[in-house]
Amino acid sequence: MYYYELGDIVSLKKGHPCGENQWEILRKGTDMKLKCLGCGRQIWVSRMDFEKRVRKIKEGDKFVSIIHHEPEDQ
Ligand SMILES: [Zn+2]
Repeated sequence: MYYYELGDIVSLKKGHPCGENQWEILRKGTDMKLKCLGCGRQIWVSRMDFEKRVRKIKEGDKFVSIIHHEPEDQ
């Protein structure tokens, strides 16, 4: 399981139909609530689906592969 914070921006295996593929994490838990940064639509995905679909996470001003993402304080 990877490490996320509320407010993190991630990209998924597939983007939103609006053409954007940047999502802000609004809630985390058994289900994750994500907001599309293109159109503002909010969706719920199960944690398991999220883990399978997430590809990159924004660190500073660039996206890095999720497999390289680690908590900042470890
Ligand atoms: Zn969208």
